[in-house]
Amino acid sequence: MIKDLQEKFIMLASGKNFKNSKAFLKFKKSFFSENKSSQPTNADLREIYEELVFQKKIVRNKALEKAMLSRSIRTQSGVAVIAVLTKPSTCPGKCIFCPTEKNMPKSYLSNEPAVMRAIMNKFNPYSQVQSRIKALELNGHSTEKIELIVMGGTFSYFPKSYQKKFISECFRAANDYPVSSPSSSLRGRLGGGAKNTLSKIVSKKKKVDLTHEQKRNEKALHKIVGLTLETRPDYIDKKEILNFRKLGATRVELGIQSVYDNVLEKNNRGHGKKEIVNATKLLKDAGFKINYHMMPGLLGSSYKKDVNMFKELFSNPEFQPDMLKIYPTVVVRNSELYKLWKKGKYKALSDKNFQRMIIDIKNNIIPPYVRIQRLIRDVPVPSIEAGPKVSNLRQIIEKESKCKCIRCREIKGGYKAKNKIILDRIDYAASEGKEIFLQLVSPNKKKLYALLRLRIPQASPPSQGGGWEGVDLTNSTPNHSSHSRPKSSKHIFGSFECESPSNSSRPMAIIREIHTYGKLADISKRDKNSLPAMHAKASQEGPQHIGLGKKLVLEAERVAREEFGAEKIAVISGVGVRNYYRKLGYRLKDTYMIKSL
Ligand code: SF4
Ligand SMILES: [Zn+2]
Repeated sequence: MIKDLQEKFIMLASGKNFKNSKAFLKFKKSFFSENKSSQPTNADLREIYEELVFQKKIVRNKALEKAMLSRSIRTQSGVAVIAVLTKPSTCPGKCIFCPTEKNMPKSYLSNEPAVMRAIMNKFNPYSQVQSRIKALELNGHSTEKIELIVMGGTFSYFPKSYQKKFISECFRAANDYPVSSPSSSLRGRLGGGAKNTLSKIVSKKKKVDLTHEQKRNEKALHKIVGLTLETRPDYIDKKEILNFRKLGATRVELGIQSVYDNVLEKNNRGHGKKEIVNATKLLKDAGFKINYHMMPGLLGSSYKKDVNMFKELFSNPEFQPDMLKIYPTVVVRNSELYKLWKKGKYKALSDKNFQRMIIDIKNNIIPPYVRIQRLIRDVPVPSIEAGPKVSNLRQIIEKESKCKCIRCREIKGGYKAKNKIILDRIDYAASEGKEIFLQLVSPNKKKLYALLRLRIPQASPPSQGGGWEGVDLTNSTPNHSSHSRPKSSKHIFGSFECESPSNSSRPMAIIREIHTYGKLADISKRDKNSLPAMHAKASQEGPQHIGLGKKLVLEAERVAREEFGAEKIAVISGVGVRNYYRKLGYRLKDTYMIKSL
């Protein structure tokens, strides 16, 4: 129904002659608020517009196209985010708050924006990626660096063959773009693309080869620099980590919801704290970035308990996620919670309490090395029976927020060439290892230009018998004693195996994330002569590719070598960034980029 509304809007808008974006935005705002619906992004609308043009329901309207051009928010974090959905499937979970809708991926509602896009593309990964690149591109976003996010519930629950095919098709779509060779049933929709002409379409459906498509992507114009998969903590084990790495994943979104066993149990999560702690450690040791999904307001929790839960996340080294998505519990039809709420056995968080809680969490709890990715889920207001309904929470609490999280400090478009940049470092313990968070910031640390996460998985000194064994897939019983280390032991980051000298007890370090912020600078426009200076005399394009990333890598190498005696350093690198690390002396070993120190 929301799609119908958006179509209706585009039909109306296509008959108008907008003078500028401001006039268009005003029209958009009043239309959607009159219809009591949240405002879609211009990129979403652009996709529907293209669809309607293709179906000949409307004719092209140049003024409208121009007015829809958005000043890029999505790519201001340095990458173009493309979310794709897996096909509808059941989930092993029976969480009481989770809606089940026919023909929808578990936990998703057919009127959420990302889901609507997937439906339009019949859940075909190739078509989803290409139409999204097209929509972003048409709206003025740069799409050379793509962070691909695979949504749709528990990815690990799909058969391995589907997983592999899905991801291969995503890579192939990025590699082929703007040429398109989707499966025959989907060719029509993509035929009307920007640079895409029907004559370019290859009709044969090619055999999918993941490794081949990944290799192609290293040199493709649209590089997948990060790949996020969504799963449950109880599905993470060494085998799954190996699988995720082969697929090219660099970040994992874990459905945590609560860290308290009694709350997890009441909500029928099917796993407890133990599984969360275990998955967190395994993933971090393998270099993944971790994004926790948390749900305040669950059955069995309270305001106080929720706030304490967020404190626990960052005071207990067993958790320490890198990112957070905070989705307050809402009651939707087709869920068990709905029945309980109807019987008066559940009381949802009010808008006011949720806002108060978020301000408290942001201002007093979130450390500077964490990024709050999202504050509320895109559940359309009409679907919410009870629970927080604010969809523009960030704007509402903006004035009161003193949040120091990554997102609130990213420089976005506000970069000036004369800006002074300093190196700052935060060390913290996490999952039996040590995290070193390096950030390039303004002198007051309020503006963030670039960051790096370095992990020493087993941080205790080797001389005390704590030499790091990594995730050793060759031996199911972990061996933490350097004295009993087998000759030629294998250290494994996910699928990476490194033959280490038999007498070596020096640890290995792994870089889990490097990110430079600011307006996306196209890789092709990179200034080769730019420098790694701290007081960056940067190009006017923004801080990407002026050597800030390189500066951080060099510092991480120094820390790993000098402070921890590491002999090697690995980077969990997105497929599309491998060449960047090759230039810094790293070599591909299975799925990791490795350098001897
Ligand atoms: S695991 Fe996720 S998708 Fe599955 S039932 Fe629970 S919330 Fe829903
Ligand atoms: Zn923040």
